[in-house]
Amino acid sequence: MKHRNFHKESEENHLPQNPNVPSEELTIVVGAGLAGLSCAFELAEAGRSVLVLEAAPYVGGRTANWNENGMEVESGFHKFIGYYTLLPELLERAGIDLNEMLFWEKSMETRHPESPEPGVFGLDVIRAPLKTVLGALGNNSYLTPADKASLIPFFAAGFKDYVARPEELDEIPLKEYAERHHVTEQALERILEPLSSGIFFLPPEQYSSYAFFGLFAPGIPRLHKMRIGAFSGGMTDVMCRPLADAIERLGGTVRTSAPVKSLIVEQQTVRGVELESGERLMSANVVVAANIRRSQKLVAEHFSAVSAFRPFFDLEAMPHVTAQFELPAPLLPQDRTTFGPGTQLGSFGEQSRTTFRDKPGRTSIILVDPDALVDLPEEEVWQRTVDSLREIGLEGVDSATDYRIIRGDENFYRLSAGSEKKRPKQVTPIPGLFLAGDYTKQPFLATMEGAVISGQRAARGILKT
Ligand SMILES: Cc1cc2nc3c(=O)[nH]c(=O)nc-3n(C[C@H](O)[C@H](O)[C@H](O)COP(=O)(O)OP(=O)(O)OC[C@H]3O[C@@H](n4cnc5c(N)ncnc54)[C@H](O)[C@@H]3O)c2cc1C
Repeated sequence: MKHRNFHKESEENHLPQNPNVPSEELTIVVGAGLAGLSCAFELAEAGRSVLVLEAAPYVGGRTANWNENGMEVESGFHKFIGYYTLLPELLERAGIDLNEMLFWEKSMETRHPESPEPGVFGLDVIRAPLKTVLGALGNNSYLTPADKASLIPFFAAGFKDYVARPEELDEIPLKEYAERHHVTEQALERILEPLSSGIFFLPPEQYSSYAFFGLFAPGIPRLHKMRIGAFSGGMTDVMCRPLADAIERLGGTVRTSAPVKSLIVEQQTVRGVELESGERLMSANVVVAANIRRSQKLVAEHFSAVSAFRPFFDLEAMPHVTAQFELPAPLLPQDRTTFGPGTQLGSFGEQSRTTFRDKPGRTSIILVDPDALVDLPEEEVWQRTVDSLREIGLEGVDSATDYRIIRGDENFYRLSAGSEKKRPKQVTPIPGLFLAGDYTKQPFLATMEGAVISGQRAARGILKT
């Protein structure tokens, strides 16, 4: 169960490349995550021929759901942030109704083992921390007035540095930045930790300060758009499969269970791809929209000596680990985003009223410090999850009827200090080769919005040629 096996028999294999499309007009997109799908949609909508090749038997990548040995799972707990613009706009063009795809949450919760009461915050806390954290006067047993006051100079300086000197900000780990600005220990653990590790897993000692402020900064001019949406079903079912269908309606082709083994390169120009099956497909352009590790391998096989790619090859990946389980009754009274600072629980939520409505109880958890967990036996990861839930008073976990530990180690670029300068652009110096993926350079970090921006930039690069 540890890593998904992409090479099993396809459940939904699609038609092969349309033999009527001459290869000199075709773009091949490797990977059907949101980056690959958004790129393919833009190209198909512009009247270009496009073929998407996806290794897994289903589309969606990190925004997917599937059946894992008899249990319905997802890649992990996902939230759709109201200030995203290009993702909703793309989905609307593809005919996907956001109001059917999402449930909007009204509040969020933070549970700490030593706090007598949970902190409950209005929705703005994720994307407008300055306003909301400081305005959270009702949570005094969770955070003292001194803790709150210590956050004021920290946020003020951080947003200023995010604009004025982003490269320098990216070199400073969040914990160090917080210490420099005299954030109290309790505010660091109870507020900054959930807003960092709770979202991108890494502990504050590693987490880039640029990534921290960069996640919230786009929300400041769009405060009126502050909402958090939970998916109304599995993400392949309600978002990515309908998006792939829209690409096919526009004349494109999406093939699943079609892992690409290597690029076909002639005279330093990318001319197509070879599949694991040995099939060779020629094209005018190839967009590598696989996850970071696979993309690095595909490009490095032919272009390891190209100096422009050196920072990209040095960009590190980080693992992610999630625990998902079913119960005879809901674990939590509401389906809302919950953080568990001071425990192994990053962010988590009950989903039996939103994403997995056919289950009486269903919880999904993103675990923090995945480097320490990714290679542990799953029973041990599960035990740590149970212990953490008990620590914050959620003993209901003892009645769990089934669980899965879903993890991967090659999907995310590492959001640690110093990574920003290594992220590659979508348009590469190699003729015929484009990159897409949340790890490529765009302002929305490792998010669904970021993946869409990257795909659209790659498509624009192709349309310009
Ligand atoms: C647990 C978790 C929680 C998250 N929470 C949020 C959230 O709340 N909000 C948010 O906005 N974002 C969230 N994200 C991040 C978001 O899912 C990603 O940023 C986004 O989905 C990345 O899309 P992508 O297309 O760049 O990459 P991926 O989705 O990783 O797509 C890459 C695709 O390439 C395929 N592939 C790889 N190798 C090959 C090959 N050789 N041949 C063919 N295909 C190949 C893979 O199978 C995959 O389908 C979360 C992610 C995870 C894992």
